[in-house]
This record gives sequence, C-alpha cells and structure tokens, in this order.
Amino acid sequence: MFRKRSIRTAICGAAMLMLLSSCGGGGESSDTDSAPSGRDIFAMDTFMSLKAYGSNAGEALDKAEERISVLEGELSVTNENSDIWRIDHAGGNSVQVSEDTAIILRKAAEVSEDTEGALNICLYPVVSAWGFTTGEYRIPTKDELSELLKNTDYHGLSVEGSTVSLPEGYQIDTGALAKGYTSDEVIEIMRESGVDSAIVSLGGNVQALGTKPDGSLWKVAVRDPFSPDTDMCLVEVGEKAVITSGNYERYFTGEDGKNYWHIIDGDDGCPADNGAVSVTVIGDSGIEYDALSTALFVMGYPAACDYWRSRQDFDMVIVTDDQRIYYTEGIADVFSNISSMPAEVIPVA
Ligand code: AMP
Ligand code: MG
Repeated sequence: MFRKRSIRTAICGAAMLMLLSSCGGGGESSDTDSAPSGRDIFAMDTFMSLKAYGSNAGEALDKAEERISVLEGELSVTNENSDIWRIDHAGGNSVQVSEDTAIILRKAAEVSEDTEGALNICLYPVVSAWGFTTGEYRIPTKDELSELLKNTDYHGLSVEGSTVSLPEGYQIDTGALAKGYTSDEVIEIMRESGVDSAIVSLGGNVQALGTKPDGSLWKVAVRDPFSPDTDMCLVEVGEKAVITSGNYERYFTGEDGKNYWHIIDGDDGCPADNGAVSVTVIGDSGIEYDALSTALFVMGYPAACDYWRSRQDFDMVIVTDDQRIYYTEGIADVFSNISSMPAEVIPVA
C-alpha cells in the first residue's frame, strides 16, 4: 500500500505563500486602491491563488481566470480535445496546435537542448508508469523503465510553426513549464488591464507584478523540503517569478519505506536523486525559470551550481539532501534564512 499526501501538502503551501507574500501590504487599509481582490482557483491539478490591487483588479481577475481555463484546455494530458492529448495520440502524424502550445513546446525543446536533457518533456511514459498522472502509484521494474526509456529522446519532438510531431510511441507532457507560462500570461493580463500591483501563486510558482501598493517589495516564502508545512526562507522581490521544484510537492511512500517523487531523471527513469531536494529559481520569466527549476533539480548539487556559473542571469536557492541551503550572490541582500539549516552563498568561481 502506498500513502498519498501530495494534495494536502499542496493546499498548505499555496496558502502560506500568499499569506507571506502579501504581509505588510495594503490588506488592512480601507483605501480601495490598496485593498487586494483575490481569486482561488483549482486548475491544472494545482491550487492557484491570484491577488490584484486597484480599481481594475476585479475585471483583471475575471480575464485571468478565463485565460487559465483556456490554457488548461489546450495543455491537459487527459482531456481528449487538448493539443497535448492529440499530439500524444497522433501515432506519429503531425498535429496543428494553438500558439500557446507551440510557444511552450519550442521553449521546452530549447531548454532541453541547453540542459542536455535534464529537462525532457518526452519522459511522460515514464512519469505515467510511476502513477504520477493517475495517483495510482507503483514502482516500475528496471526492465520496464529501460523499455520505456527507448521512446524518450527529446530530439524526437519537432515544432515547425504551429505543426508538431512526435515519433510513434512517444508521449509528452508540459507539466514542468506550463504553470510558468500560465503565470506569465496572468501577469500580462493584469498589466494590460491597468493593474500595477499583483501577485499570483500557482502551486510552487509565485510571480509578481510591480511592487506592493505601498512601494515595498513582496516577501515570498519558500517551503522547507524537510518539513513542507513550514517555510525555510524568505526572498524579497519586485516584478519577478520565484519558482520552486521540490521533492515534497508530489510523492508517494513505497512499501520499502522510501519516498518516490514526480521529477524524473532521464538517465534511469527514476525520481531524480542527485543531491538536491529543492531548487528555487528567481528571474523575470515564468516559463523559462519553471523549465529551469525542473532541469536544475534533475542536475542536482553541485551540477546546478556549475550551470548557474555558466549563465549568472538568474538567481537560485538550492537545498541539498544533507540539509544545507545554497543561494546566489544576487539575492544576498533580500534573502532571510528562517530555518535551522546552515545557508551560504554559492561561490562564483
Ligand atoms: P515541476 O514541478 O515544474 O518541477 O514539474 C514537474 C512535472 O514535470 C512532473 O509532474 C512531470 O509531469 C514533469 N516531469 C518530470 N520529470 C521531468 C523532466 N525530467 N523533464 C521534464 N518534465 C518532467
Ligand atoms: Mg518546472
């Protein structure tokens, strides 16, 4: 028998993030421009919490909710009308997809190439074999995994304009970066609707527009992977995405007493276990850094630090399996460790 805990943990996490990310803001003020309007949504198998300030907030939230519903319809792996379902069941034929889907798949291909397959959306048959799609968890055998891995080369995905194809027997899912694209879109809708100040939390993805109404930075909490009901650190940000991939977000405990989580290493088809238990990426693109947080989790520690050194155009907080926190210099002034774990800056060289 496997114990399933993922949903309960997800609810707590989202609520806590919004509480902290809005603390000190205009919640108590009677000024309409400073009072937030909020919306809680369950979509993409995720609890989402949107908060916007100002007189246009209500209309912006309505539009954002509609947009989330459209994206869910396009990207679902289980809805037979979605772009992804049609790609996965095309038997090797090409499929016409929406602009959203094409953008996400092009980004996935780009990040897969750049991370040498640490991100690989073609791993879906393996993700499914572990039961992460249905919640019917099981531990596949090594033989089953090596058979499934034969159909997971990320170079198999082809995206030409809005035409997508996959070799027969391949299947994809965009779970690693769809929420990041969604938070980009929601923030853009807020901006176009005349909202200057907003923050959204989509599971482990937080993204902000502007600053808090009083001009101060948002405080975003990152959960402690060893105690997921509590927070381990706070990061103060302006208009940024703060995106976490963690081994506590979706997992089950096997009969052998071990935990098995939803982020898979394409080398062996097993939950990635390369020294990192949580990776948070901070930067200005939801889609880019959602893809990257998953890839860096797979790379693990210290490989993720080497990757960061090669780019240095984003910030990162990484927690290792020996309970240490490492973070990049760029957030040193806005990072507060509220855990008992030691935290240190990642050396640039
Ligand atoms: P995230 O929470 O953003 O790290 O995304 C995790 C989700 O991405 C999983 O639930 C799977 O649907 C999918 N996934 C798992 N492993 C990988 C991987 N190595 N590359 C791409 N997608 C993955
Ligand atoms: Mg991700």
